[in-house]
Amino acid sequence: MSSVKGFHFNTICEISAQADESLLEEALSLCPVFERLMSRFIEGSDVWNLNHAEGLPVQVSEHTLEVLKCADALSSASEGAFNIAIGAASKLWRFTDAEPVIPTSEQLEKAIFELRNFSIRFKDAGVIIPAGATIDLGGVAKGYACDRVADQLRERGVTNGILNFGGNVVTIGTHPEGRPWKVGLQTPNAKRNESTFAAVESVDSAVVTSGIYERCFTRNGTIYHHILDPRTGRPASTDIVSATVLSSDSMLADALATAILVLGSSLGLQLAKDYGVQTALLTTNNQLTYSAAMPLTLTE
Ligand code: AMP
Ligand code: MG
Repeated sequence: MSSVKGFHFNTICEISAQADESLLEEALSLCPVFERLMSRFIEGSDVWNLNHAEGLPVQVSEHTLEVLKCADALSSASEGAFNIAIGAASKLWRFTDAEPVIPTSEQLEKAIFELRNFSIRFKDAGVIIPAGATIDLGGVAKGYACDRVADQLRERGVTNGILNFGGNVVTIGTHPEGRPWKVGLQTPNAKRNESTFAAVESVDSAVVTSGIYERCFTRNGTIYHHILDPRTGRPASTDIVSATVLSSDSMLADALATAILVLGSSLGLQLAKDYGVQTALLTTNNQLTYSAAMPLTLTE
């Protein structure tokens, strides 16, 4: 097995597979390509162009278009719990900075107004969003990239591999020993990769987890995390600590995991059911609820 690692989409992206390291490096080099299209921080990216278009149509790459269409569908299906216009709020909190900021109520009111009035239109002339809106694809772009990188590896003949882009896992074929890959679900607040509470079996599918213990900070005893409720612009406060989605489509799983965290367990489970995907939800009272068909085993 060879392994390669890089820092993209503000997280560690790792590929391990039975293949030459050079093949894995080549596949990993797609990450900065997608990042340059979908990061809101990179001047000239599709997302940057949309955020600065003042309501005019913008021609975007086929990749960005696919992600925007998935996000738009998810936004409707989740009744706005998933909303890429969340950029209006996330740019205030600045979770990716060394020193995140707690926005004022006034700032959040303005962000909520933008979120409520957001719409996206797909025209021949390009994609149109309202002037002043700020798109943030942080909840879905990694999932898309992970699928495309896995596709390239499959095309190059890789038959056994695993990709982990910051909790967004895609498996190719089986483990080299012929058994399914086992994707560990992280114990909240434990050091990354050091403790898991369960494992999900995966063959050629995606296992994606969103957690409120990722990218968070504590101020005056309150924990603030990066998954925001579009109705308030503040960290989503539901009964869920982490949501894991198993699906053949990693982009969909990524968006769904984020949406479920905002919706809470009862609406979240319904959304997963509507999409025919399996989920495992860890709740604030430390209960694990998972779909009957989820191939999950608890860690001893
Ligand atoms: P994930 O780790 O996939 O759950 O994505 C979290 C990221 O998604 C955040 O860092 C934001 O960039 C973005 N995000 C936060 N809240 C939402 C939301 N309600 N809808 C869509 N994207 C969101
Ligand atoms: Mg997500």
